[in-house]
Amino acid sequence: MAYDPSNIFAKILRGEIPAYRVYEDERTLAFMDVMPQSDGHTLVVPKSPAENIFDLDPAMAAAVIQSGQKLARAVKHAFNADGVMLVQYNGPAAGQTVFHFHLHVVPRYADQPLRSHGRSMADARLLEEHAQRIRAALQAG
Ligand code: 5GP
Repeated sequence: MAYDPSNIFAKILRGEIPAYRVYEDERTLAFMDVMPQSDGHTLVVPKSPAENIFDLDPAMAAAVIQSGQKLARAVKHAFNADGVMLVQYNGPAAGQTVFHFHLHVVPRYADQPLRSHGRSMADARLLEEHAQRIRAALQAG
């Protein structure tokens, strides 16, 4: 399947639709998942067009992992998480629903099961509050 630039993350990257942005550098952007599987669930995307791991430029893969590591540290700190899961899906059979490569950064809490994948929209104010916590943790280093 060829990369389709009308996907929702491409629109976020072009600034055509809003997102709760938490981090940006030359090669990557990170923002809140609007249907979080846990509090603090964040997505990291490359700024280059790639549908999945199979067509992602290796240098961009490295950039996404580097941003993912920053975000993992920040969400762990911001939410006092017990652990952090980094996950990504390639192809519909693997569970991918948005066809611009993305890395899920999912804080895990020992006493809480994960909520369902992409199922229920979080409250807008809560997402903004969570984004602010992550931005503050990133600034604190
Ligand atoms: P995938 O299933 O492709 O791995 O993950 C897509 C993710 O994008 C899901 O976790 C879903 O909750 C999230 N998502 C879907 N639509 C939007 C959107 O419009 N904005 C944001 N920020 N996340 C979205």
